[in-house]
Amino acid sequence: MSDGEAGVATGAAEMAVPSPAPTSPPAYDVSLADHGLEAKEFRGLTYPLGDHAPGYGEYFAIASGLGWTRLPVPGSLDHINIWLLDDHDAHGEGLAIVDTGLYMPATTDAWKRLFAGGLAGRRITRVLVTHFHPDHVGAAGWLCRKLGVRLWMNRTEWLMARMLTSDVRAEPPAEALAEMRHAGWDEARIEAMRLRGWGNFARMVSDVPIGHVRLDDGADISIGARIWTVMTGGGHTPEHVCLLDKPGKVIIAGDQILPRITSNVSMMASEPTANPLGEWLASIAKFRAALTGEELVLPAHGFPFIGVHARLDTLAAGHLERLDALEAALKSQEMRAVDTFSLLFSRAVDDSVYGIATGEARAHLRYLECAGRATCTERDGVGWYSA
Ligand SMILES: [Zn+2]
Repeated sequence: MSDGEAGVATGAAEMAVPSPAPTSPPAYDVSLADHGLEAKEFRGLTYPLGDHAPGYGEYFAIASGLGWTRLPVPGSLDHINIWLLDDHDAHGEGLAIVDTGLYMPATTDAWKRLFAGGLAGRRITRVLVTHFHPDHVGAAGWLCRKLGVRLWMNRTEWLMARMLTSDVRAEPPAEALAEMRHAGWDEARIEAMRLRGWGNFARMVSDVPIGHVRLDDGADISIGARIWTVMTGGGHTPEHVCLLDKPGKVIIAGDQILPRITSNVSMMASEPTANPLGEWLASIAKFRAALTGEELVLPAHGFPFIGVHARLDTLAAGHLERLDALEAALKSQEMRAVDTFSLLFSRAVDDSVYGIATGEARAHLRYLECAGRATCTERDGVGWYSA
């Protein structure tokens, strides 16, 4: 995950947590302009902490009342960033958790280390989750039950998590197989999908609480001394929650704004006629307009950074370029979704990413179709696109 040379934070220490846990380098207060950090610039973004990151289950104070830890995620994603916000409620001082990790032993072990180490003696007030994906909501139910606290989540995202953890049928439904056939999967790949079964989501997610506290777009949520405005985005998930502290110039961005990798924007079986890439680009415009560009962005994967306008512009331009290239190719030949991989993706698409690549390719084709720039003809259940 490293960009290159290491930067080390040496800014003003303002430890929020009286604990013996390793928190070196000392806390960095983003509100201090005159700091001694070795910030790092890379591709138009500034990383104020360089590439320092806490270990799994280690507490690191970024700013006053704002802590960071990481939890492991298998595969190329490697980790998820978890944010720990100073909070208070009717029972007194405490901490709110934002995002929770996959429900697996390595995650729950890291949480236990954190509660025994960096957060020893601290009470948890609530658990907030940005969106329904398993690396975010996975351990939420386990944490809420263990800590006796409520889950705060956008209603649509909570419903998605509840629905997917409840849907544990063994066989993939016929519609899901038909969609892959439409995208151009051969029978061997469809058979492999059938054998993998259905309900994998539920295996990575602990039982989602049957009730939640809603995070609605535009709502102001008071957590400790900060007031966070809920901003939702679409395209990655239906109503992904970001939390913006406007005066504090911090945004908890989840998977909506990532510094290095691009977020997965795919057609989903739940909305086969939607236009997720259209929603994604509209969300980029929404965040571009709402943010000043001075915010410290706290992404779910990678390192905290400043330069959200540059990042959003790069993301939008990348999609628009690929859409243009796709349209040009479709003018000279008919293509199925699986025929577009080499045109859309710089990396080779092997079996491990074939499903995600298919979803993203379908989202790009669907965008062109909705814009009247491509048409789809179905023959023997397979979708052939042309422009
Ligand atoms: Zn996600």
